[in-house]
Formats: sequence, structure tokens, C-alpha cells
Amino acid sequence: MRLPTFKAPYLPHMVLFISLCAISLVSLNSGLASAEESDKPKLTILIGVDQFRASYLPDYNQMFTGGFRRMIDQGLWYKKGIVDHAPAESLPGHTTLSTGSNPKRHGITSNSWIAGSATGEDEQIKATVPHVDYDNPILGSAGSIGYSGHNIDISTIADWFRAADPNAKAVALSVTPLAVMYGGRPLPTTSENHVYWLGGNGRFETSTYYRDEYPGWLDAFNQEMAGKYLDKLVWEDTVPVKFHELAREDDVPYEHNGIHTAFPHRADDESDRTGDSLKNWWLGRFSPYQNNALFDLAKESVSQLKLGQRQSADFLSLAIKLTDRVGHDYGPNSREQLDVIHRLDILLGDFMTFLDTAVGEGNYVIALSADHGAPNITEYEQANGRQSVRVTSSDIENSLSTVENLIRNYQGPRHDLPGLIAAQLEREPFVYKAMTSADMQDPSIEDPTILAYRNAYRADRVRTYPLWTQANMYGQRPSRYHPSVFGVTVDFAYQANIWTARSTHGGAHMYDREVPILFYGNGVAHGTPAATAYTRDIAPTLAKISGVVFPNTIDGRVLDLR
Ligand SMILES: [Zn+2]
Repeated sequence: MRLPTFKAPYLPHMVLFISLCAISLVSLNSGLASAEESDKPKLTILIGVDQFRASYLPDYNQMFTGGFRRMIDQGLWYKKGIVDHAPAESLPGHTTLSTGSNPKRHGITSNSWIAGSATGEDEQIKATVPHVDYDNPILGSAGSIGYSGHNIDISTIADWFRAADPNAKAVALSVTPLAVMYGGRPLPTTSENHVYWLGGNGRFETSTYYRDEYPGWLDAFNQEMAGKYLDKLVWEDTVPVKFHELAREDDVPYEHNGIHTAFPHRADDESDRTGDSLKNWWLGRFSPYQNNALFDLAKESVSQLKLGQRQSADFLSLAIKLTDRVGHDYGPNSREQLDVIHRLDILLGDFMTFLDTAVGEGNYVIALSADHGAPNITEYEQANGRQSVRVTSSDIENSLSTVENLIRNYQGPRHDLPGLIAAQLEREPFVYKAMTSADMQDPSIEDPTILAYRNAYRADRVRTYPLWTQANMYGQRPSRYHPSVFGVTVDFAYQANIWTARSTHGGAHMYDREVPILFYGNGVAHGTPAATAYTRDIAPTLAKISGVVFPNTIDGRVLDLR
């Protein structure tokens, strides 16, 4: 809290100031400080729902009976929270939730960037996927590629909680390795690091960055889960029939692979895998039970580690991936996404009921938001008479080869080249804006798209997406003539989707950047504030109401929850 600015001539302020000081001193001396502390949450929870756009909660509000019902009816709901950076992608978005800062500051500028770009001279161009850690394999799987938060440059909310109290615990859980964006820096006592994600082997795992041994309770949990969820190979629709009209019809040709577009979805129908390979793949891919497993593990962590049941203020984060998987393949407005959100509502409600007993109602606080939103599927928009572009791989190949020819034939001064590349790219109908390193650093440019990209721009970490072809796929070495090598990044046209999936977020348009921001629990009033809230504000707000100090160098600010 900021103290009011003191102005000498106004005596009443001074009196008030002195009185406040006196009250705190009295509280401390008379032992009232402990009573004050018990007003603070004993467990603080941050839930990042991947690709959870702002429209879902109002559109599906009447369907909710579980956790969303409770959070909407009793908590504080910013209906259109803003992801104040572009690209609106998962890794930057989740790291903004965990650090309270823009990607430019925390360093995770995109899902994949060119290392050492903006020089164009490096023969060893390589794409960096920022949470991949080649030095730290998956624990128990020597030689594998692991994951960690090693590319995050600043502390996270998990670090703040542990710095505030050496006995505080911070736990990060997810499906896919998103937990590494929330887990903070590993403590020297490795048994105290709890960063786990559902891996491709059907088990919750970690990397050697965090631990050198799995806790026994996690091994036991994985054993039990194998029986509970790995055999569930059919995804049935659980949405009550009267709510089906909230989504479009189920069987439309522009979803998924064009064949398996309707319920029920069966693992063995949709994959050639067999046996354990099929089961493991399905649980991580589309099985709705991946979220059951995640919430079960959250409960197990609360019980085993006594989170929120000790003298310390503990922290737990959950990152949910299924909304993104289903969003990319089936799109918003699909019956599949409706079912995922319906199930999430139930699971969240069940988890809160568990917390009411385990931690105590009123002893915990939850914030829920998202890393980014999503556009509608192009073919759905077109079927409804709305403008939308489908960008094919050959569209992008053609564009990149035109750029390559421009660079090969160019004879002029090198510093003019990025501007020429950008101008060439902007001739493409599917490109809305092409931006150079100079654009990003010129404060006189106040274009809203460029402002959003500026918050996530570093000249040595320029992203390759969405200028992706088969040859520039994830993790592969890009051409030395790729625009990103020259510091140029692009924002695609409004409602454009690229060939990699049915619905492809990752730009600066507002459908990608509007997400809900919900707070519930200890210290939170009820309401739907009209004020603008940014996803970077969530971490400092949670820290503040939990009495945890955070660095004054972060970009986010404390929201008023009362
Ligand atoms: Zn995402």
C-alpha cells in the first residue's frame, strides 16, 4: 500500500498518519498482529487456463453450477481482462501471469524465437523453445530432453512466497510442462521443489533442474492414476442437452481432422497407436480426464504437503491445457469446448469444496485467468458470412521466397534491409502489420498493435511464428533468410488462421488478448469492476492480499479487490 503523499500545511493528514502508526505499534505490542495475520489467506492459488477467451464465461454462464458459479456469484470478475502484449501465445502469457511483468521484462517473448537474430550473419541460426532445457532431462529418463524455467529472467510469485517465509511452500502443477513457467527458481534443498507436469509417459514428472528424486507420494499417485484415468479411452459429452444450443452443431467438417468431428470421441479411432502408447497419448491429448488427474494431484499436494494448514502462507499454481488443445482443433463455439468448460466448472467446484474442509472456507484465495484467447475457425466464420482468411503453407512459402530473393539481390546499406523486408511482407493480403526492430524501439510510434508487440520484443529473441512453413516447423533450424533473422515480426490479418491448426491464436487482435480475470476468497469482494485489469496485475494483487512482498520493478500493479 502506498502511504498518502504528505503535505506539510495540512495538519489533519499528519494527525491521521501518526494515528495509523500508533495503531500499528499498539497492535504489535499487544499481540494483535497474529490476529491480523490470520485475516490473510493461508493458501493462495493461481489457475492459468490456456486459451480461455473472455467470451466463454458470459456465453456459458447459465450452464455453470460448480466452481465458475461460485467464483462469479461471490467473487470479483473482470469480464474483459487484457493480455497487454503480443504475440498472445502460451509461454509468454503464462509467464506474465506468474511474474506480474510483460514478456520484454521476464524474457519469454514468444513460444519460439531465433537466437542471436537481428544480425542476419549468424550461420548457426537456431530456434529456441524457451522452456526446453537440454541440460536437465526428465527425472528418471536419462538422455531425454527436459523442461525448466531457466530462460525466465526475473522472479515469479512462487519465489516471492518463499522469500517472504522460508517455511512457505510453493507448488506448481500442470498438464504439459507449463508448470515450469510458475514454479520459480529451484531451492538448494531439492526435496522442497514441487514442479510437476503430466508427461507423455502418462505420469506426472519433473526434470533434474528441480529434483534428484521423486517423492514417494507422487510415485504412489502415478500408480493409482494409471488405473483410474489411463483406461478411459472414450470422451463422452456431459453437457445437459438443454445447453447444447450454446454451441454450434457437433458434426461440422471444419473441426479436427474433418472426420472425427462429433461425440463420442474414441482414442483408438483417432490414432494408430496401441497399448500403453495409445493410453499415454490420449490422456495428454484430448482425454477430458487429464483435468481430473490434475485436480486430483492438486488435492494430493494440499494433503501431503499440508498446504494452507501450517503457520505459513503457501502458494499453489495450476495450469490447464485442454482448453488450448480443444480450442486449436475444434475451435471456440464447438460442442467439444463447451463440454471441456462444463467439466472444468464441475472439477473446480469440487476442488473448492475440498479446500473448504482441508484448508477452511475463508482461508484461501483463488485467482483464475488465461494466457491468451483465440479466433473463431476461418471456415466457421465463412459459413456464417463473415470475413476470415485461411493462410496456407504455400502462401507462406511463396512469401518467404519473395523475401529471400529480395535479400539475395539487395546491394544497398544493410540497415535499410529490415524496412524493405517489412514493406514486402505488408503487400501480402494475410499480413496486417510487419514490424522491424527500429519500429519496436521508436517511442514516437504509438500504434496499438506495435505497442502490444513492444511489450514482448527483444532484438535478440525475435519470433519465427506465424511465418511458418513445413521447413520452419517447431524446433527446426530456420532459413538464414527468414524475416525474423533480420528482426522483423508480423501480425496477421484480422480473423486469419494459419495452416497449422483450425484456430490459431498468437497475434495482437483483441480476440487473442481478452480473457477473464476472476478472484475469489479471502479478502475479495463481490462484483464486476468496469476498470481495466491486465493479466500482469494478478500476481502482485495475490501477493499483496497474502501479505507477501514483491519486487517494485515489475510491470503489474495491485488491483483493488474490496
Ligand atoms: Zn496457450
